Amino acid sequence: MLSKQDISERILVQEHLAKEHLPDDMSREDVERYKARIKALLKEKDACLVAHYYTDPIIQELAEETGGCVADSLEMARFGSVRPEKTLLVAGVRFMGETAKILSPEKRILMPTLEATCSLDIGCPAPEFTAFCDAHPDYEVVVYANTSAAVKARADWVVTSSIALDVVEHLADEGKKIIWAPDKHLGAYVQKETGIDMLMWDGACIVHEEFKAKGLLDLKQVYPDAAILVHPESPASVIELADAVGSTSQLIKAAAELPNRELIVATDRGIFYKMQQAAPDKVFIEAPTGGSGATCRSCAHCPWMALNGLENIVTALEEGRDEVLVDAALIDEARKPLQRMLDFSAALKG
Ligand code: SF4
Repeated sequence: MLSKQDISERILVQEHLAKEHLPDDMSREDVERYKARIKALLKEKDACLVAHYYTDPIIQELAEETGGCVADSLEMARFGSVRPEKTLLVAGVRFMGETAKILSPEKRILMPTLEATCSLDIGCPAPEFTAFCDAHPDYEVVVYANTSAAVKARADWVVTSSIALDVVEHLADEGKKIIWAPDKHLGAYVQKETGIDMLMWDGACIVHEEFKAKGLLDLKQVYPDAAILVHPESPASVIELADAVGSTSQLIKAAAELPNRELIVATDRGIFYKMQQAAPDKVFIEAPTGGSGATCRSCAHCPWMALNGLENIVTALEEGRDEVLVDAALIDEARKPLQRMLDFSAALKG
């Protein structure tokens, strides 16, 4: 059994943030020099920095300091679409850049690197997915935001994890049969919560899939008063142990609202930056990942999110490299299911 002594300081967010604050092999002077250069370039190039919750805390801080935003993929795209700047610098992964382009086709969308992708996107190639949908023509196609523009273009609905349950219930009420793609764990969660059967694509997030129920139970013995927060891209055995299940934004809200002082968090550790802002007096602990002998020392961090750095942000702005380009016809098609979700969400709130 684990003891508090066994648990490396890596799991405590305060120390994590202190360490993360300086990217590998960068001094404080280097960081400040890069930040100053990026701030000047954003002004010079009429650009706005939008960053995902899973990027390095330094990038999130920079987005906030320059009037950009830190958010989930859809809010990043929505925020970017109402900004006056002609260029959006999207720090995240490729489908986020594409979503920004779909909602703001008139803008130039740059990314620190187009190499940053997502296992859900890779695991759902458009040709195979189209063939799958074509083989089931009487099904309504619902895809998660973590998909390429081409996959979105084949869908009837795009959903985020925060609205998936409402959309699926709405479609079932209308008597529709549903194809769900690409995340099988999120799909299984939606299926369990709504009791609605769906035809499922077999994709997974390589980060969330690694959280382990056994390790979580061990950690809970060390921190018996801690609440467990879980993103629904995690396996069902992990979700079952959660005090709160939700999207990134919902988990940040739960971190602030739950009465527990200690919180064990099963999602990418980049989120701790905003969680700590939302709940400054609380202690955040990484949920265990890794192999069968998972320990709380292993780290949950998306390898593609980690490709975003200060250096390639400078290069992207200086050279206009790594621009996200999406075919105009594809933009028109992909926008329809996205807009359907935005309208549905607005109607829910209204
Ligand atoms: S954390 Fe998972 S879902 Fe998010 S970008 Fe990385 S691989 Fe994709």
